Amino acid sequence: METESIAKRLETIRAQIHDAEIKSGRTPGSVRLCAVSKFHPVQAVVEAIEAGQVLFGENRVQEASSKFSELQTICSKPYQLHIIGTLQRNKIKRAVECASCIQSVDRIEVLEDIQKHAASLQKNIEIMFEMHTGEESKAGILCADELYAYAERCANGDFPNVTVTGLMTMAPLTQDTNAIKRSFETLRKLQETLNQKFPGLPVRELSMGMSADFITAIEQGSTLVRIGTAIFGERQYGAVQA
Ligand SMILES: *Cc1c(COP(=O)(O)O)cnc(C)c1O
Repeated sequence: METESIAKRLETIRAQIHDAEIKSGRTPGSVRLCAVSKFHPVQAVVEAIEAGQVLFGENRVQEASSKFSELQTICSKPYQLHIIGTLQRNKIKRAVECASCIQSVDRIEVLEDIQKHAASLQKNIEIMFEMHTGEESKAGILCADELYAYAERCANGDFPNVTVTGLMTMAPLTQDTNAIKRSFETLRKLQETLNQKFPGLPVRELSMGMSADFITAIEQGSTLVRIGTAIFGERQYGAVQA
């Protein structure tokens, strides 16, 4: 079933990202690739690292933590790990330990816990706020005012071990390109407003775009696309212990 290697698929994706950057008038290299390795074994991550991939995304903390600590015993090349899935509070300590960025901050309690654990680990950690921008999706902060309230606390210095780097969203799962576009546009406008309201809290990243919609996301200003299936193939549910 696996017809193409991970290296080959990565090469294809990188070329598509480059083309989309050019076509939409973006600077080549302005869009980073986060390879989403959830439900894929550590060997798949090693293959991607060997092919030059550095940044990975996982959405379950348990799986991420055990997979990437195993990785460190078999591969010495550097990598970065972002957590991209909704966090239960009892998983936050482990998330802070294993990741350099948590993209899926969707409530203030999560941010408070991240700060607490980052402080006790004497670590600085990046976060993004996950926004709800599409009808079908359930995840993310629902309203802009809530986002601004969180940002205000960040701007006030309430979370000294946390750096807010961006906003993340998932577009609705639909064939309707306009609905997908609107979702990405919403995130970009939120970023603009946020940067006007809080100039001391520069929010530069727009984490948006997955296997099915990353070209549209790049047209709409994405700086970080999160791609799983198009790199690693269909997820092997059950193949990886959580
Ligand atoms: C799984 C996942 C992705 C990757 O999805 P693909 O369709 O496999 O590219 C991206 N973002 C989040 C938040 C995910 O959970």
